[in-house]
Amino acid sequence: MNKKSIKDIDVKGKKCLVRVDFNVPMKDGKITDETRINGALPTIKYLVDQGAKVILCSHMGKPHNIFTEGFSLTKKEKKAVEALPASEQESAKAEYLKKAVKDKEKFTLRPVAEKLAEKLGQKVTFAEDVVGPSADAAVKAIKDGEVVLLENTRFEQGEEKRDEKLCAKLAEYCDVYVNDAFGTAHRSHATTAAIAEYGFAKTAVCGFLIEKELSVMADALENPVRPFVAILGGAKVADKLKVISNLLEKCDTLIIGGGMAYTFLKAKGMEVGTSLVDDEQIAYCKEMMDKAEKLGKKLLLPIDARVTKDFPNPIDAVVDAVEYDVENIPADQMGLDIGSKTAELYANEVKNAKTVIWNGPMGVFENPIFAKGTIAVAQSLAETSATTIIGGGDSAAAVTQLGFADKMTHISTGGGASLELFEGKKLPGIECLDEK
Ligand code: AMP
Repeated sequence: MNKKSIKDIDVKGKKCLVRVDFNVPMKDGKITDETRINGALPTIKYLVDQGAKVILCSHMGKPHNIFTEGFSLTKKEKKAVEALPASEQESAKAEYLKKAVKDKEKFTLRPVAEKLAEKLGQKVTFAEDVVGPSADAAVKAIKDGEVVLLENTRFEQGEEKRDEKLCAKLAEYCDVYVNDAFGTAHRSHATTAAIAEYGFAKTAVCGFLIEKELSVMADALENPVRPFVAILGGAKVADKLKVISNLLEKCDTLIIGGGMAYTFLKAKGMEVGTSLVDDEQIAYCKEMMDKAEKLGKKLLLPIDARVTKDFPNPIDAVVDAVEYDVENIPADQMGLDIGSKTAELYANEVKNAKTVIWNGPMGVFENPIFAKGTIAVAQSLAETSATTIIGGGDSAAAVTQLGFADKMTHISTGGGASLELFEGKKLPGIECLDEK
């Protein structure tokens, strides 16, 4: 990687504003998964050991901008208010704003500060705001080797709007800007990129998490040990258009599963019953199959499917399911998982690979009846000696739930960011950093 990391600079005594990804899942004020906090620890510990003044910032969830004067409704709420008769709009707005105030409790990073202190074995000062009096006081008092966590950056409207004033104020807390939030590296917000892009951060480097994510994933994409197999699943083709096209160029075999496979099968002229098909993408799928042929790449589609009559409701409801070859899917049935012949075909391909990347489940894995294909693929990745990379999101959750996490070479902490890497896009949170 050609971007500077914290190892390339002197941080002793410097105020390091570190953008981390502390967007952890919470339930009733308790953190339910600490993975993201753990992911940031190596960088934080290193900076503490080096005697830096560590000022951490992160967003959590999608709260209202409660620190911005005259804070506004969310887009969804605005729409709902506008749909009401004029006489009811003011009171509806007031109701929403009352709810918004509760966001301070729901989306505060205070529990993260407590958990982090426990993990670091040292005090973490929590600032009650992002750039207000509490943050000012905490930064003024910070000593070398100490840690401050600022409140949820998205409480400030300027975060997502890349507000210059917010960046300028944050620059007062920042001799060195460190980005270690891979999960938001594909976003261009004030603390994820703009502060460096605008030139407010004189030195901008990455932390160890971003360094690791990039070295594993970019390396696999640019210099894979071959055969290189890419596995894509998930609901819709439309969400992964660029990913499919870019991966076809990079890999030797592209495996397609999940809901998106049925649009490809339809493009091959098959009838696929009531399975998920995006008619607007049929031409695109044909184009991709032609592209694969021209490039001499293998593009594998399901040969059989596990089908049922209606989409389960609730999603984990017990329903009857039968396997059919894809040519024989009955008109009134929908495919919700790859069948066992397909699972074997895909597992064999993985067995012969030297590099495998995977994003997206093979079926409606939320229901155990349709999780078999996803489990089979996860198992094949767990058993191979190839480099295995899981691109975050549902596939990362599936691999972790199944207990295969420690069998993978790398599980990305950023679903959206890794998909954009797979698309071949440049990530703003990384582009903004200093070159080596
Ligand atoms: P994505 O967010 O695009 O990775 O898609 C994940 C979702 O795709 C999961 O919630 C799955 O339930 C859903 N999914 C996977 N296979 C199918 C299928 N054959 N039909 C409908 N939905 C599917």
